[in-house]
Amino acid sequence: MLSDFIRLARSLGFAAVGFSRPGRPLHMDAFIQWLRQGRHGEMGWLERNLDVREDPARLLPGSRTLISLARPYGWDKPATPDGFTVSRYARPDAEDYHQELKRLCRGLAAWIREAFPGGKTRICVDSAPLLERSFAFEAGLGWIGKNGMLIVPGTGSRVFLAEILTTADLPIPDRQPAGDLCGACTRCMDACPAGALAAPRVVDASRCLSYRTIEWKGEVDPETAGLMGDCFVGCDRCQEACPHNPLGEIRRILLPPAGELLQMDGPAFSDRFGGTALARPGLEKIQSNLRAMGVRSPGPARRIPRPAPHGAPG
Ligand code: SF4
Ligand code: SF4
Repeated sequence: MLSDFIRLARSLGFAAVGFSRPGRPLHMDAFIQWLRQGRHGEMGWLERNLDVREDPARLLPGSRTLISLARPYGWDKPATPDGFTVSRYARPDAEDYHQELKRLCRGLAAWIREAFPGGKTRICVDSAPLLERSFAFEAGLGWIGKNGMLIVPGTGSRVFLAEILTTADLPIPDRQPAGDLCGACTRCMDACPAGALAAPRVVDASRCLSYRTIEWKGEVDPETAGLMGDCFVGCDRCQEACPHNPLGEIRRILLPPAGELLQMDGPAFSDRFGGTALARPGLEKIQSNLRAMGVRSPGPARRIPRPAPHGAPG
């Protein structure tokens, strides 16, 4: 029966599927320690609902099974014609991945409810206080690399994660968390330009360019802008450095010139990028990031050359 479910998930593009029981996450203590060290920047919401993070069954009373799913995303990098880029997952030409994953998971949840009459389901895609990488690790989807990402063997870390909680008591097979294949490698830590990988598997979000260019409400300062290279939303460098991800970089011109983005108003942005992952940082943040990188409007955009990585934090 589980094999039918896995087959269906794979037909929907999920590269890895695993099952666990919704108990205390294996990485709960590490998460609390990370919060205590203030590595979450201004993401105060991460401090809330710790009781739920500790006991995911609170998200769906009576939960017996937690299904973890990983779906790869494209590795071509969206670019402007004048050489600026955004992170690979922030596709400007596709539905926001949160919506896409939820839609796909609805089909899987319906399968569970049909196979286990009376079973309830709840889909989580970044929408609930859940340590998703910890459960994905526990379910055997992959290991957590020194860059803090879940790495699926044979697929890499460029995957979106989703979870389905269910009250159905799925017959979970014996499983082993995947082995850690990082070994002595430190490429991601060496490649991080912001010194955000303070120690293996400890991401200092307050320094991470991904956080600073998307979540952070403040303006990017000139020093940080100098670290961003040409990427004005997110940062891919610790994943680009990882030997478990496909090598090479294909850029696709999917964005207008940077100066044009700077001139865009709210309605024009919503028309073109509403419903995509770029709506998450939003127009104001995108324009603020571009200004910090030296783009001026009107007139031709100026591209800041990518600085050499300064290596791992001391
Ligand atoms: S390489 Fe970029 S995304 Fe990775 S930790 Fe450093 S700043 Fe963050
Ligand atoms: S770059 Fe090396 S150390 Fe970092 S996650 Fe990949 S394999 Fe692990």
